[in-house]
Amino acid sequence: MLYNHVMSKERIEELRRLLKEASYQYYVLDNPSMLDSEYDMLFRELEVLEEQHPEYDDPSSPTKRVGYEVVSAFEKVTHEKPMLSLGDVFDYEELRQWSKKITDQYPDIEYSAEYKIDGLAMSLIYQDGYLQRAVTRGDGIVGEDVTSNVKTIRSIPLSIPYKQRYEIRGEVYMPKSAFIKVNKERIARGEEEFANPRNAAAGSIRQLDSRIAASRGLDGFWYHVPDDVNASDHLSSLSYAKQLGFKVNPNNRLCHSIDEVIDFIEDTAAKRNELPYEIDGIVIKVNSYSLQKALGFTSRIPKWAIAYKFRAEEARTVVKDIFITVGRTGKCTPNAHFEPVKVAGSTISYAILHNEDFIKEKDVRIGDTIIVHKAGDIIPEVVRVLKENRTGKEIPYVFPDTCPDCGGKIYRLQGEAAHYCVNSDCPAKVITGISHFASRDAMNIDGLGEKKVEAFYKAGILTSFEDIYKLHNRHDEILSLEKFGEKSYQNLIDAIENSKKNSLEKLLFGLGIRQVGEKAAKILAKRFKTMDNLINASVKDLSDIKDIGEITAIGIVDFFKSESNRNMIDILKLFGVNMEYIDTASNRITPFMDKTVVLTGALTIYTRDEATAILENLGAHVSTSVSKKTDYVIYGEKAGSKLKKANELGIATLTEEEFRNML
Ligand code: NAD
Repeated sequence: MLYNHVMSKERIEELRRLLKEASYQYYVLDNPSMLDSEYDMLFRELEVLEEQHPEYDDPSSPTKRVGYEVVSAFEKVTHEKPMLSLGDVFDYEELRQWSKKITDQYPDIEYSAEYKIDGLAMSLIYQDGYLQRAVTRGDGIVGEDVTSNVKTIRSIPLSIPYKQRYEIRGEVYMPKSAFIKVNKERIARGEEEFANPRNAAAGSIRQLDSRIAASRGLDGFWYHVPDDVNASDHLSSLSYAKQLGFKVNPNNRLCHSIDEVIDFIEDTAAKRNELPYEIDGIVIKVNSYSLQKALGFTSRIPKWAIAYKFRAEEARTVVKDIFITVGRTGKCTPNAHFEPVKVAGSTISYAILHNEDFIKEKDVRIGDTIIVHKAGDIIPEVVRVLKENRTGKEIPYVFPDTCPDCGGKIYRLQGEAAHYCVNSDCPAKVITGISHFASRDAMNIDGLGEKKVEAFYKAGILTSFEDIYKLHNRHDEILSLEKFGEKSYQNLIDAIENSKKNSLEKLLFGLGIRQVGEKAAKILAKRFKTMDNLINASVKDLSDIKDIGEITAIGIVDFFKSESNRNMIDILKLFGVNMEYIDTASNRITPFMDKTVVLTGALTIYTRDEATAILENLGAHVSTSVSKKTDYVIYGEKAGSKLKKANELGIATLTEEEFRNML
């Protein structure tokens, strides 16, 4: 008995430590160290042990706390009413037990059943009809003031037709399409990918520079108005919020019994994978405000609501092989190839294993039986190895010290987890580099995907960017290749010809300069107008541009310093590839696209930084002085000489309010 107690105490302490550490990684660093399902399992275990051993009670236990204490550089704000978490259930039996506890006391219950949006909780506070503050949940009591970033989310109303103080809470999330795009850009810049849309959203909202948040395509759904005086139940309160201009999820359903709630869960589970955003469960709330009040809260959760959590869809399979792919930067990424299995709506047979440390930590071996899932329902991932299924025949993976493609040595740089192949002629680097050059967001050469590039490379007719523009001389060789007919040959040559007319930014992105993603390429093309201007730019010229950091600037200058790179540009020029920025209609889709805007006077709706972030996100260049080149002057209170000068020069002026209305 004594022994059991000691064991339990140790386990309780261990669980508290593990959960605390995981929460820090998850809430503060936005970089989870374990899967949510693992976290939930440990949390449950701790809850059970604490219930059995009240003598080890600790008010700082993760089971008594919401989120994590705020440790960021943002201003701390105390919530008027605590922002709580939710209790959770994982099956219908538990859900029925939760509802029975309530219906035993109050038999006629109406529920609101809602999607559990997988993002981060946010409180919006409006005063005199204007958005005054946006605050994260933090530890439930104190959150972070992230107003500047939240104001860049276009679907959030900056003003509402309601003059009393109004607080609404909801979830800021990153749509799946934005998540894929952001990760693609991060890969292009050689940065770590976000693990899932939830962490991507949380990481974006906590950027100190609003322009970064503005570029991440965030959105929000609003689902709770604390103490709403305009309604007597939750769903009416949300209808009113919708009238005020808030984005309320259209799928919320009024249910008259727990069976109806279960039907809703079943319906949703069937179509969950097709939704454009992530949900990780269904939230069930008692609809009536008076009943909510009667049921009350614990220190961590409301008793009138519960989250039914979808189990992460997992599947069991067997590792057939582990192999390395080499990216265009030379990064060597290990991947698991396993027996095909269906997970979250599609069949998968590969998962990224990230790096040597990841393989060691999970101890993945060839022949192992593994559990796989899709992180954020999108990215295939190995959850764990079923070591109990091992027969002894499994082969531990030894990370190679040479590149599987060129045989050159690969290096693990100090302080980095990844290995790199540094041979610039490595076929894998060349092939992925050319496919990137030809890809849609770069030179957009339809018909020149990675498989084709590889076939042409092996046939010896495509080993550099320049070779693309010589392919019209390779008619017979191309037609002799498998799956290439006259028509596809002609289409390819036409697409290559068309690519010569691209605006400069597409070429810049295609060149694969380290750290230069699509956005940076656009900024550079707009700023320098021609390739020659950019080639002649110094590190200072480049790093003076707001969005270009010093590391990127050095990368650009180094790229053009290389003689072989400059020769390559000269040859592309000779082949007729356009080297200038083209001011196309698609580059000017917003009224502020490419416009020079000056802000002056005391702004009251936005801060300077917010207005600048919004304008830059819309493609404007924000300048500090008024000249003939200025397109708009946006002015606040007590505007002086700059407004006067704008009027004298006949430049369009906008009040801050007019500017907001244009948005
Ligand atoms: P939660 O995510 O389980 O549920 C509460 C949250 O749901 C609310 O705060 C709100 O933000 C959100 N929500 C979404 N839609 C909603 C709706 N329609 N109505 C009301 N709320 C809605 O709880 P939590 O406290 O935010 O986080 C705890 C969970 O986070 C854990 O269960 C675990 O899955 C995850 N976590 C994971 C790790 C890890 O290492 N992987 C670490 C810490 C926490």
